Amino acid sequence: MEKSEEEKIVIVGGGICGLATALALHRKGLESIVLEKSEKLRATGACIIMQPNGWRALHQLGIASKLRQTALPIQSGHYITVKDGKHTDLLVGNGGECRCLRRSDLMKTLAEELPPNTVRLGCKVVSIKVDANTSAYSILHLHDGTMLMPRVIIGCDGVNSVVASIVGLNSSRHFSTCAIRGVTHYQTLHPFGTAFYLFDKDGVRLGLLPINHNDVYWFLTRKLTSTADSMVSKDQKLIKESTVEAIKGFPNHITEMINNSDVDSLHLTDQMRYRAPWDLLRTKFCKGTVTLAGDALHAMAPFLAQGGSASLEDAVVLARCLSQNMGIALDPTGMKAARAALDQYAKERKMRVFWLSLETFVVGTMHDTSALLVRGLCIITLIILFRDKIANTRYDCGRL
Ligand SMILES: Cc1cc2nc3c(=O)[nH]c(=O)nc-3n(C[C@H](O)[C@H](O)[C@H](O)COP(=O)(O)OP(=O)(O)OC[C@H]3O[C@@H](n4cnc5c(N)ncnc54)[C@H](O)[C@@H]3O)c2cc1C
Repeated sequence: MEKSEEEKIVIVGGGICGLATALALHRKGLESIVLEKSEKLRATGACIIMQPNGWRALHQLGIASKLRQTALPIQSGHYITVKDGKHTDLLVGNGGECRCLRRSDLMKTLAEELPPNTVRLGCKVVSIKVDANTSAYSILHLHDGTMLMPRVIIGCDGVNSVVASIVGLNSSRHFSTCAIRGVTHYQTLHPFGTAFYLFDKDGVRLGLLPINHNDVYWFLTRKLTSTADSMVSKDQKLIKESTVEAIKGFPNHITEMINNSDVDSLHLTDQMRYRAPWDLLRTKFCKGTVTLAGDALHAMAPFLAQGGSASLEDAVVLARCLSQNMGIALDPTGMKAARAALDQYAKERKMRVFWLSLETFVVGTMHDTSALLVRGLCIITLIILFRDKIANTRYDCGRL
């Protein structure tokens, strides 16, 4: 790689957050490179529910209107208990724009807006050396022996981040619930209109959202059976069979939807990982000129469907902080300016990601536990702290 990398901002990981961060920086006139370990950009898990706060961030990135053309707005929500057919309205769409995007559409749109050669595929970061007390650059080592000394390093390398330990975060934890996701294509119009449905029976939950008038995204959460599920996760036919098995007793049109799903779209996540909220409170989010964004910082199991939207918010806030500070000549190397930017980013994001992580933790624990006392405590906490269920979607990350 060229010598001029020393001046650049290096982003580790080319997932949603890495690409969004590179795009946000590009919009602010800051050059960056994205190092992605895979040989191509991957979009695991078919679709992503994008909530109003995520759309605000996409708008700032300048790609909201393009993505709107690929997905219908979700206008209502229905919660159905399968045993008695009881129906309750859910607050979806009432709080603002909510759509279900194909992950591949989102990744492609982000990547297409980047300058050529921003993303370097097949570049696995194996370690980082930081000297937080001097003005020296941090050193980044790649699997092929290449060394880089970028001005700023942003770890967007997901739940098993190598960058997170540098910043002082413990490994992420996981719930004992697993998630299966897939897409079903209907030759004629599907019967769900523009509504989100959530079916619940004995701890098995199946949610579905239309992507457009012919394609429906669905997800199922149920208790993890560790040995069986790690085997099932490797075979998409087995994923379908285990899903059909889990939804015995669900309405016929739901079973049909699973049976007709596109096998290639199926994915089982056997470890729904999360960052403990108290870990986020106790760490600084950055060390020297190294910081984190996206799941690497705040992995959150998908109970609120907020991980992706929060990652886009990180991208916007981080690029804003860097562009506000890096133009100021505080020192010849620019290290002071970079540190000031990262401190500002940490300050802006800390409580936002703490509250999201706390709500996710409480909802996840409530689904996970079989202890009545723990479940009761979770319900009380939710009533006291999170009575307004869509408050987290009203957040505005501000202008880029
Ligand atoms: C079952 C499930 C359902 C979800 N549903 C939703 C939803 O509906 N709505 C929502 O908003 N969020 C949802 N999420 C969360 C959302 O998927 C994540 O928050 C989001 O994808 C995080 O993006 P990221 O870029 O931070 O991480 P990732 O997507 O994990 O990307 C990390 C990238 O870094 C690369 N990488 C890793 N290590 C290295 C290395 N050492 N060197 C170089 N590259 C590296 C990886 O290959 C990968 O490409 C869901 C999550 C799960 C598990």
